[in-house]
Amino acid sequence: MEIKEYVLSRKKKLFETIKVMKTKPHLAILQVNDDDATNAYIKGKMKDADELGVLVTHLKLPVETKECEILKVVESLNNDDEIHGFIVQLPLPKHVDSEKIRVAINPKKDVDGFHPLSTLKACTPRGILDYLKHLKVDLVGKNAVIIGRSFIVGRPMAKLLIDESANVTVLHSKTKREDMYNFLEMADIVVVAVGQKWLLNDDHTFKETAIIIDVGLSRVDGVLYGDVQPGRNVFLQTPVPGGVGLLTRLALFENLVEIMKNEI
Ligand code: NAP
Repeated sequence: MEIKEYVLSRKKKLFETIKVMKTKPHLAILQVNDDDATNAYIKGKMKDADELGVLVTHLKLPVETKECEILKVVESLNNDDEIHGFIVQLPLPKHVDSEKIRVAINPKKDVDGFHPLSTLKACTPRGILDYLKHLKVDLVGKNAVIIGRSFIVGRPMAKLLIDESANVTVLHSKTKREDMYNFLEMADIVVVAVGQKWLLNDDHTFKETAIIIDVGLSRVDGVLYGDVQPGRNVFLQTPVPGGVGLLTRLALFENLVEIMKNEI
């Protein structure tokens, strides 16, 4: 099943779950910038919320907001009983320590699953793993190569795949080029989360049976690109756009509903 169809069918199920909930889930989105890409991501999330019957409070602060002011808003969201979960939309301005904000969020309300004590899976890795499971991909003993080691994608993805008994290798900007070629040649599953247009391209060889999950997003001259050049000779390559972004958006609302179920 294509990602779009898969997401649509899960959204329908989620809609039915939310429809019968006594209290409607209420998500808050805290935004601290006004760039076009962030506005577009939030617009997408608000559209999903509307379709799913989820209430949304969108708080938009100017880009020059001080870190201590952002922390105050986070604290007020932590203490607001009307809000079941919230996200602080990334990227944050350069003068803000994202790490401080990440750990200030109450783990019980951390819909993104970024807090070290969060019991929820981070949205992008959750979305990817659920999709792989839906495709009935056997991960046990498979070679999984993850490119990127961020706290929001690479690291939580590695943990989830280790938990599924895959053999996990995490590569990053300090990985030697020739090593990257060798790891990729052996990979059964590749998850790329870098943000560099077509980092993986004709220079790289993959198994014909490989699955490539392209998380990366970069905009060049207004056009959106993934980390992987389209048309690799593999079993499955997720598209950009219309791929992992949809899985991430779905996982966000699945996490929100999970928070409410945990509360009950
Ligand atoms: P990030 O925090 O900037 O991390 C990027 C990672 O890529 C770092 O670990 C970095 O290594 C590594 N890297 C950079 N250049 C490299 C190279 N030439 N070779 C190998 N590794 C390299 O980014 P992120 O937040 O994880 O996001 C990554 C990308 O995914 C971005 O394009 C973002 O927009 C996209 N994204 C998409 C979704 C979605 O739903 N579609 C969700 C989240 C993120 P070092 O650690 O050594 O610096």
